[in-house]
Amino acid sequence: MTDRTLIRGGIVVTVDKSLGELNGADVLIEDDRIAAVGHNLSAEGATVIEAAGDIVIPGFIDTHRHTWETSIRTCAPDYTLGAYFAAILDQFAPKYRPEDVYAANQWGALESINAGITTLVDWSHIMNTPDHADAAIKGLQDTSIRSVFAYGFPNTSIQTWWFGPDYAGSVERIDGPDARRIRSQYLADDAGLITMGLATRGPNFCKPDVVRYEWELAKELGINITVHVAMDRFGYTKGQVRALKEMDLLYPNTTYIHSSHLLEDEWQMVADSGGNVSFAPQIELQMGHGWAPALEATKHGVPIGLSSDVATTAPSDQFTQMRAIFASERARRNGIAWDTDTDSTELITCRQVLEWATLGGAIVAGLGDRTGSITPGKKADIVIIDGSAVNVAPVIDPVAAVVCAADVSNVKTVFVDGRIRKQDGRLKAHLATPRKLVEASRDYLVGQVEHQEGWLTTAR
Ligand SMILES: [Zn+2]
Repeated sequence: MTDRTLIRGGIVVTVDKSLGELNGADVLIEDDRIAAVGHNLSAEGATVIEAAGDIVIPGFIDTHRHTWETSIRTCAPDYTLGAYFAAILDQFAPKYRPEDVYAANQWGALESINAGITTLVDWSHIMNTPDHADAAIKGLQDTSIRSVFAYGFPNTSIQTWWFGPDYAGSVERIDGPDARRIRSQYLADDAGLITMGLATRGPNFCKPDVVRYEWELAKELGINITVHVAMDRFGYTKGQVRALKEMDLLYPNTTYIHSSHLLEDEWQMVADSGGNVSFAPQIELQMGHGWAPALEATKHGVPIGLSSDVATTAPSDQFTQMRAIFASERARRNGIAWDTDTDSTELITCRQVLEWATLGGAIVAGLGDRTGSITPGKKADIVIIDGSAVNVAPVIDPVAAVVCAADVSNVKTVFVDGRIRKQDGRLKAHLATPRKLVEASRDYLVGQVEHQEGWLTTAR
């Protein structure tokens, strides 16, 4: 029997260009799919959710998060990217046990659903053993969030895994046999709730033969690559995208994270090869990666998704990312106008920002065909924002209300894959046990690192 739910009378922002924004409209969900969008839909036998005055949007997509770091949330508020490498990846990551990865992934996924994020790209560079990989996937499975599990490399020592001997590039590879095991054991179904990607380091961090091995592994497994490029000084002088082109490794649907300092010809290379970008604007601004150059991406027709990156240093919700890029990209453009004594004619808009947080993110995650907009036939990943909240009402422009006024506390109701996961402000999950696990993990990890290295006071 078909399970039917009608979201009735809301301000529906579909983020689907052919459907637009509909006032006082209904969304009909049948099982895991959006069945119809429009006015006065008849829905006999459906469970009705009244949404008059509320704003109905597609679920947010976080296109890059190191979810395993949730157990050490906000341990590094003042860090630069360099300090982060030294403290988080060198000191903390090698101490992680499988249960720490499980606790962090479960808690991070619950946090995501609570914040209206219905799809999470888990950039999991904590594959220290096969048990770590199993634990990461179980953490996602146990929350039933839609996710892309981006299988990464072990983080057992930064000297080996990121920079290699004398910063000339790592000689260590992703564990190919274990990646193949994960693909066949858990993630063989590309239409499943959890799908697979490959989280790689790429040129500048790895020897060329390692880069080639990992790119070819992704091709063999039939999965997309996600890679950090052009951030801080790590990518600027070396031209990572140029290096990939020289190696003939510019694969379609590759996600280039940060891309703060991509060169003009590299933007064209990303565009020509069918790549996309994930900006983590709050982190990029705060830690020194650089700007989130959305105007360059849009100029080249490169799809944009937003991401939270690390919970060690900034909030993980998409309201934060939307406002960070909205302000910073306009500030950057206005700065250029001031410096050149010209007018700021090119400014991004709040509609573009909401699109990047939803449909753009879905495209970046490789899931644009099934989520990211309120389109009949797509999966029912839907969020209802409380339009009557004290910080949201009165609503004039629903998109502006979401981008410029709302926050996590206004995420009233959340559907993932047609299932209601948060209703009237209450997450439909028991939080006590997951919280105990993540707090125990925090105690263990902080204890390990403090006692051994004293980094909390010194690694700034
Ligand atoms: Zn990252």
